[in-house]
Amino acid sequence: MENSGIITKNNDGSINVPDIATIPFIEGDGTGPDIWRATQTVINGAIAAAYKGSKKINWLELYVGEKGYEKTGEWLSQEALDNIKKHVVAIKGPLTTPIGKGIRSLNVTIRQKLDLFACVRPVKYIDSVPSPMKRPEKIDMVVFRENTEDVYAGIEWESQSDEANEVICFLTEKMGANIAENSGIGIKPVSAKNTKRLVASAISHAIDNGYTSVTLMHKGNIMKFTEGAFNKWGYEVAKEKFGNVTITEDELYKSYDGKLPEGKILIKDRIADMLFQQVLLRPEEFDVIATPNLNGDYISDALAAQVGGLGMAPGANIGDECAVFEATHGTAPKYAGLDKVNPSSLILSGAMMLDYMGWKEAADIIRQSLQKTVKAKTVTYDLARQIDGATEISCSAFGDAMVAKM
Ligand code: NAP
Repeated sequence: MENSGIITKNNDGSINVPDIATIPFIEGDGTGPDIWRATQTVINGAIAAAYKGSKKINWLELYVGEKGYEKTGEWLSQEALDNIKKHVVAIKGPLTTPIGKGIRSLNVTIRQKLDLFACVRPVKYIDSVPSPMKRPEKIDMVVFRENTEDVYAGIEWESQSDEANEVICFLTEKMGANIAENSGIGIKPVSAKNTKRLVASAISHAIDNGYTSVTLMHKGNIMKFTEGAFNKWGYEVAKEKFGNVTITEDELYKSYDGKLPEGKILIKDRIADMLFQQVLLRPEEFDVIATPNLNGDYISDALAAQVGGLGMAPGANIGDECAVFEATHGTAPKYAGLDKVNPSSLILSGAMMLDYMGWKEAADIIRQSLQKTVKAKTVTYDLARQIDGATEISCSAFGDAMVAKM
């Protein structure tokens, strides 16, 4: 049979994928095992349908989260992180954030330890999925959210702690700041290096996928040296690395009468609050959106709601060395083990993973069969409560129904 082994990465960032590829998975906590089972069935089914046995995934389970703690005494072991790095590509279900001191959030820790600097969230309408929008088919955006800094970097101190008091003392006495007594303190670092690599990967994504604009979303009118700098560095990297294919809005109106020349990508920027209304009112004007961590957190979920909610939204965390594809919702613990929730988020993340691997035929089969299954109105509870005349089926039955339609 064909070559088998692990995915490897070349110096130029491209990857080599064997026909039989070993890929690690983390099933996740709460509803994770349910949605992972359905997802695995669907991914295997799509690969079989697309390649008739000439390609296959050998799944390698990594014990992380509650299962990791039970089996190894660690929520997130170095071995699991090393395995993700070694295999270049991995997929995971949602993980509970352990309560108490120590690790803040396993998801944030995985992103930071593996330097997965871009959280990539495609938002595209799938026909027949219930949406609050009048014209949801106009929505086709991809959010590139910076993953490693901003207020998410975890640099913060509790109100009245020695550290908070010391920082307040420094800021008031040395920097002339006016800070209310007993404030908690959080720090928001935004760097040129991390901004530029994020915006560069957003522009590359636009080029590779035929998108014609990249919007820098920021709150630079207020936070000039963090969000405003993000915007400035974003334009800089567009010019430095992609000067031959990008133009700014200024250039568009000055030199091209507002009409984008063939083959060019428009780099524009929008203040965060304004963008929230523009993606609702004129979604067709936005393609790729690049933004710092916190803005990206908000806009990704708001956009997901426009096309059917978090149960339908795929995502990936991508760095220079490896990529982790994941369900975007949490563990929904009240439904754990009930075989009830919607597995589509993880299934569509699996399709993104197959795209990333170059197995696009299998990825397309997944998206088509998902659409057919929803159109047939055989759906999980969350969609059933929004679609008239729907038949509610279980999480596993939804996966089986998708495979039957491939
Ligand atoms: P959540 O698990 O996302 O669940 C909130 C609600 O969203 C659920 O009660 C359910 O709504 C709906 N929902 C979530 N997943 C669904 C699915 N697959 N199908 C259908 N509906 C779904 O958020 P949470 O309760 O705030 O968080 C629970 C735990 O997850 C926490 O420990 C949190 O830290 C963790 N978390 C992990 C990740 C991650 O791993 N990436 C992300 C977010 C949160 P209804 O009640 O209306 O049915």
